[in-house]
Amino acid sequence: MSTGHADDLDRPFWDVAAQTRPNDQLQADARAGLEREWARVWDLPVDFYRRKFEAAGLGPDSVPELDDIPRTTKDDLRADEAANPPLGTFRTVGLREARKIGGSTGTTGTPTIMAFGPTDKELAVEHMCRVMWRYGVRPGDSFTHSWPQGFYMSSTFTALWFDRVPLLEIPVGPPMGTDQAKEHLRLWQRLRPDGFMMTSSQLQTYEDAAEEERIDLADLFHDRPIGLLDAIFQFEGPRRRLEAKYGFRIHNMGGVGEIPGYGPTDCRHHTGVHVPGDMVVPQVVDPATGKSLPDGERGHMVVTIHGYDQLILRYDIEDICTMTWEPCPCGETGPRFTLLGRAADAVTIDGLTTLPIDAQLVLHDDGAPDFQFAAPAEQDGRALRLKIEGEGDAARHQATLQEALGVPVEVEEVPLRSLPRSTFKPRRVSS
Ligand SMILES: [Zn+2]
Repeated sequence: MSTGHADDLDRPFWDVAAQTRPNDQLQADARAGLEREWARVWDLPVDFYRRKFEAAGLGPDSVPELDDIPRTTKDDLRADEAANPPLGTFRTVGLREARKIGGSTGTTGTPTIMAFGPTDKELAVEHMCRVMWRYGVRPGDSFTHSWPQGFYMSSTFTALWFDRVPLLEIPVGPPMGTDQAKEHLRLWQRLRPDGFMMTSSQLQTYEDAAEEERIDLADLFHDRPIGLLDAIFQFEGPRRRLEAKYGFRIHNMGGVGEIPGYGPTDCRHHTGVHVPGDMVVPQVVDPATGKSLPDGERGHMVVTIHGYDQLILRYDIEDICTMTWEPCPCGETGPRFTLLGRAADAVTIDGLTTLPIDAQLVLHDDGAPDFQFAAPAEQDGRALRLKIEGEGDAARHQATLQEALGVPVEVEEVPLRSLPRSTFKPRRVSS
């Protein structure tokens, strides 16, 4: 991996050689990478994986195909940490070797502690420089983001890649309510950032603040790229609608906190989120068997990485995705995925599985009301239960959803702005 990139602002990618490496070479690299990672399991050794793989009848002498390696979930890692406090036996980077430490946001339970080594840090910075370049911002531009600060992993990192591009980072933190959102808007009016990154829940908070302060958001956002975290904007209709409203260019994001700097985005062609194929090997697998599915089919995203200090082998992030290796018109090689939501949020009725995004896509064409799936305990398997904000629209939404989703739907209408507004990631399921 080179870090000395030609000083050519017109180059299409941050790292042209890496990002246009032919797919067959990326796949050969992935196999060679797997062989090196497999050896580390036994040579270091990494007890958690060694025990797991030995139990599956695997050993150091023969490197299996990816599909034949048992998967690991976040719960497995948490259980290992609980049994072997404080940090478990799955780590290859201890606190003494770590150069960065941070946690997840804890949206799904106890925050996971991540400890990244020097190579992790370097690859994270390189990957995120590719992402920044893809946004279309260039050295000398400024970029603001509303990402959590403090112990949240990406906040301990961002300065490094902004510095390498280099861009002026304007970190404002999440808007914790309308008053703080107004402060952010006033700051942006003064500094006029060249790019933005926020979640769709945060955008709603900024919209409320802008309305109260009579600030024209379209004036701030016009002609700017915005990284917007909400899977719905991977789809053409919702994306175009919001882009038309504000005049900005939306880029969608994926990401797995445990992988250093892994916050990939889509390009201007919106063909799925571009994975750095020279570092990360994603698969979409059948959740029951763990075997790879054909391009385009829905399954769990399972990730393997190579070349990092971290060892991540067949990590099942329990997100539902589809994947493709078809060429993208932008010329970047490697796989791309479309993120559809968390497996835990799916509701199955009569064998038909519905994700919040399926309902969101239908509702987007029906006024885009705020909604949530009822809590898992309230789903009885006979009808999909949702809470939708509105004033007398419940019957219409119910009919539209039933027709489009092909399952019985029960809508509970709740007052406008009554569903809890997340300060970071959108929540589509009641808790
Ligand atoms: Zn592309």
